[in-house]
Amino acid sequence: MRASSRVVEFEERLFWTIFDRQECSREELRRLHGVSPATVSRAVAILVEHGLVVEVLSAPEGRGRRRGLLRVNPSLVRLLGVEIDFDRVTAVVVDAAGNLLGRGARSCEAKEGIDAVLGPCDEAIEEALRDAGINARAVRYLGIGHPGAFDAEGEACLLWAGAPAWTGVPVRSVFERRYARKVALVDRSRAYALAERRASPPDGRHPYALYVIAGTGVGCGIFIDGRLYRGASGSGSEIGHIVVDPSGPRCECGRNGCVQAYAGSPAILRAASPGGESEAERTVDDVAQAARLGDPLAAAAMGRAAWALGAGIANAVQLLNPSLVVLAGRVARGGGRPMLERVEAIVRQECVPTLVERLAFRLAPARKDIAAVGAALLAAEEAIQEVVCQRLYGARNRA
Ligand SMILES: [Zn+2]
Repeated sequence: MRASSRVVEFEERLFWTIFDRQECSREELRRLHGVSPATVSRAVAILVEHGLVVEVLSAPEGRGRRRGLLRVNPSLVRLLGVEIDFDRVTAVVVDAAGNLLGRGARSCEAKEGIDAVLGPCDEAIEEALRDAGINARAVRYLGIGHPGAFDAEGEACLLWAGAPAWTGVPVRSVFERRYARKVALVDRSRAYALAERRASPPDGRHPYALYVIAGTGVGCGIFIDGRLYRGASGSGSEIGHIVVDPSGPRCECGRNGCVQAYAGSPAILRAASPGGESEAERTVDDVAQAARLGDPLAAAAMGRAAWALGAGIANAVQLLNPSLVVLAGRVARGGGRPMLERVEAIVRQECVPTLVERLAFRLAPARKDIAAVGAALLAAEEAIQEVVCQRLYGARNRA
């Protein structure tokens, strides 16, 4: 938790700005915080002196001018991230800047319950630590990205559609006891969004951005003023359960006509098969390919998925006024550019013109381990806060 109950000093605020932007010049910091160049220089000198921030030189611009850019010192902390998915557990070790240091993965049958995940999780974490060449004791924080919905304390699983064995399970306590580390339980889509944003530096030019991840479910991460939006209960937003047609198909959440009931991969597979049953071996990529080859059922299923995504995103754009929409996940990649263009056309058509004039759209590429890296980064905030306070205020408090 970032400091909220105590006085946050200017250096600390600058530190978090640099963390969020990944890379920042003194001039940008001055502009963002509305202070004099001398004030920024003094504060930056303190951050550099305490080893919290490092300075690098940018590539030459124009006629060879190089700017000093500030970044968070990557060696501040090491973090573990774990992504739990239906059939797989992935573990990663990253540094404070989100650079991947090691990874491990195991298959599992996650829907059978938490006991089916713990063994594979042990092995994946062990492999990731070995791969990174890091002693387990050097990593004190663990972030877990989970597809389910959690209570406001980030402790117990309230619902994971399709996996009822998880309902009511105190997931965070189980992991904290098992690994003797502080654990942050985070929504998998928000973790994905954070890591995708950091993997694409030009996105930093859009402080207001919406990342929609369409896979088995449809989730999102919203950035407001460059920061990932948390919401009152920390679970972010549920774009997948925006109702786009109350008389539409049944959704896993129990209501009808949610975005996810059209654009989640199980919905697409059902809609694309003649009997309305999803075939075990078929994937969204197969359906997208069949649609391109002229199969009318497949084309209709992909078309409805794009329509539902467009309608849901139009609602979100209308409310949030972002300048960037990123479409990510297996369904988005399967649908490719035609799906992105269809979504963009719907959003442009359904939104107030001033909201879409300068709205950019981007399709996210496949990136390995992305949700696990994002989970580690979301856990990073707490870990880094501790180090920042120790270094900035520790000496003063002892005095
Ligand atoms: Zn729903």
